Amino acid sequence: ALLRGVARAIEGDAEELSRLESLDTGKPLAQARADVAVAARYFDFYASAAEGLAGATLAGARGIFAYTLREPWGVTAHIIPWNYPMQISARTLAPALAAGNCCVLKPAEEAPLTALRLARLALDAGVPPGVLNVVPGHGTVAGAALAAHPGIDHLAFTGSQEVGVLVARAAAAHIVPVTLELGGKSPNVVFPDADLERATGTVVAAILQNAGQTCSAGSRLLVHRSIHDDVVQEIARRFEGVSIGRGLDDPDLGPLISEVQRTRVAALVREGAASGRLVTGGGAPAGDAYRDGFFFAPTLVDHVDPAAGIAREEVFGPVLVVSTFEDEDEAVALANGTDYGLIAAVWTRDLARAQRLVAELRVGQVFVNGYGAGGGVELPFGGQKRSGYGREKGFEALLEYSQLKSVAVNID
Ligand code: ADP
Repeated sequence: ALLRGVARAIEGDAEELSRLESLDTGKPLAQARADVAVAARYFDFYASAAEGLAGATLAGARGIFAYTLREPWGVTAHIIPWNYPMQISARTLAPALAAGNCCVLKPAEEAPLTALRLARLALDAGVPPGVLNVVPGHGTVAGAALAAHPGIDHLAFTGSQEVGVLVARAAAAHIVPVTLELGGKSPNVVFPDADLERATGTVVAAILQNAGQTCSAGSRLLVHRSIHDDVVQEIARRFEGVSIGRGLDDPDLGPLISEVQRTRVAALVREGAASGRLVTGGGAPAGDAYRDGFFFAPTLVDHVDPAAGIAREEVFGPVLVVSTFEDEDEAVALANGTDYGLIAAVWTRDLARAQRLVAELRVGQVFVNGYGAGGGVELPFGGQKRSGYGREKGFEALLEYSQLKSVAVNID
């Protein structure tokens, strides 16, 4: 009931939360509103799912009644990034609370406002003081202190690989288990028999959402050679048609989070364009209107060298790189050719082919003829390879945020 109360409180405060999220991150208002709706949905989902969190009775030796219990860890720590503060706060707090933990959340220094407001809303909804705590601060200070704190029993981290390694190491000093979600370099793999109109529209949305600053951004396009020219041309046309502006004016594309981020994106694009062909974009959009923000135009780089940084590293900007393939084997090799393994999408009308790729792709989530699932609250989410380990979302998250106790009662 408390979790449902938090969901209703989020809905009741949706306009203010959306405004704060847009103000803090620069994301278009419509995207902030969608994030807030998803945040409420997490609290509803785990309010229901908690009732299914149960142990099992086990077959055992005669005279022994054996069963398992799922118990909370105790105090769970949550270190989250700036790209989806509202969604990721809810995604990590709701299952941890539902499993019976008390939580300490450290939002990113760039965007702490909605996490703080969420804590206030939870308190007002009746969550007891001390159960949901938010400690803002810099990563190297507040984040590092939280990860190394002997009082935490579980740590969930979403952010960069580099910091993921640091927090996992700090937690290891106290034998604290960790969930790591460390981003991706996720491909859309498009075959000639796909619905190309739908595929191109989705490919564009999958990289431009939140200006590409999304762990699961569709940042690579792998396209069959026979349709390459048409698909690239269509994507370029769509890229050139997006409206760009400040988040609160609700354009298609907002600015990047910071100057640091824009400088990083620009450097990767410069290097990538040198090894491939810059089709459109490549820097800040022209015009006075874009002088006072960290804007970056939708950018398409074709024929990238798969070994180039732009084809392997998470850019976190509205930057799509394109490679072509001749056959399924080559498509799989390219798709699996980075250190990351978060998500992938396969576009084909051939279901047997889709299933072959599902089996071969080394990622935590595969979409067939689509990309994402409206926030994906129900779908377990997390990486293979260097994208991390452990699972957020879905029922799986309740298992992450609880520990198992086995009990054997002698009854003879
Ligand atoms: P991003 O690339 O998304 O900014 P980071 O990994 O730098 O990702 O940041 C994600 C979260 O980790 C933020 O809340 C940040 O403050 C925190 N953080 C950064 N450095 C550290 C650190 N040394 N120890 C713990 N947390 C950190």
